[in-house]
Amino acid sequence: RVGGSIGVTVVPDAGRNADDIMRYADVALYEAKMGGRGQWRLYSPSMDGGRNARDILKNELREVLAKGAASSAGPPSDPIATKPDFGSLEVYYQTVHRAEGGYAASGAEALVRWRHSQRGLLTPASFIPVAEEGGLIDALGFWVLREACRAACKWPDDTFVAVNVSPAQLRRPNFAEEVFAVLEESGLPPSRLELELTESSLIEDNSDVYSVLKSLRSRGVQISLDDFGTGFSCLSHLMRFDIDRIKIDRSFVSLLGTKANGAAIIGAIVALSRNLGISTTAEGVETEYQRDFLAALGCTDLQGYFFSKPVPLRELGCFREAESAAGLLTTASGAVA
Ligand code: C2E
Ligand code: CA
Ligand code: CA
Repeated sequence: RVGGSIGVTVVPDAGRNADDIMRYADVALYEAKMGGRGQWRLYSPSMDGGRNARDILKNELREVLAKGAASSAGPPSDPIATKPDFGSLEVYYQTVHRAEGGYAASGAEALVRWRHSQRGLLTPASFIPVAEEGGLIDALGFWVLREACRAACKWPDDTFVAVNVSPAQLRRPNFAEEVFAVLEESGLPPSRLELELTESSLIEDNSDVYSVLKSLRSRGVQISLDDFGTGFSCLSHLMRFDIDRIKIDRSFVSLLGTKANGAAIIGAIVALSRNLGISTTAEGVETEYQRDFLAALGCTDLQGYFFSKPVPLRELGCFREAESAAGLLTTASGAVA
């Protein structure tokens, strides 16, 4: 499936030399892509301001990632260095709960945050697209993976940690080997790691992606399909890629109790998944009513603010007992030696 986005600029309004004209068209193209792809945009100077802001953020993120890599790889950086400080990345965790038997936590999803020294706490929506655009998503993704695997080692043996993976990461032919290296380094059994992909990773119908996923699954890494129902929701993906779990998007969960067809859609996804032996997590569970309804529909797991918001590792109370039982210190994410 091939799509197109178009950026348009009008000569001579936007410039008179070829470099400027191409740059303006490129800015408009970026806006078109950000607007959801398959669209066109006409360049306006207000877009350019946005681009500058993104470029600044991209450079700051590059600095933060370089600093993080240096501090975990060896000796601390030179204290007299006068490099500007743009804060640091942190991993927050949101628990996932079994729908049966008292809603015990079955695992947690790692969700990255950027504690920016000037801009405050940034959520991923404001910097993941910048990381993807700027070729930084691999470094960022592996940093999160490493942090998450280290953290999960100290949780009970029957829990998992879920880590989000961007389409660009999955396109790396040796992605699976890199994941195995992180697992080995941390000591986390592969079956306790779940990688969350979106369907856009799969639509390219790329045989490399297929073999990467096959290789990951052959060692026991779990594969889950995020935001199910919002994209192509193509049933052949479920068959071809041997998915372990579907995450039902919260837009369906929020329809429960309204006149819309939320219950019918979720019921259908759950029935299909059950027949295929696939687990189902409902996302965005905010009320007791939704929790009970989703459990009755047969979802295997539930996740949402009703149980817990994403929290820093040190506040992840429900896995604490296992940590102290093992005589391990609770360390804040990022402070692990
Ligand atoms: P996602 O994977 O769908 O993650 C779920 C998002 O929904 C999280 O937003 C979470 O805070 C929010 N959420 C959870 N429960 C509820 C609820 O009950 N109600 C509402 N209204 N929201 C809820 P967050 O942390 O802002 O993350 C946004 C997205 O950023 C994630 O969506 C994921 O696609 C991406 N992301 C986060 N961390 C990473 C990462 O390390 N790598 C990559 N590639 N993407 C990431
Ligand atoms: Ca996710
Ligand atoms: Ca999701």
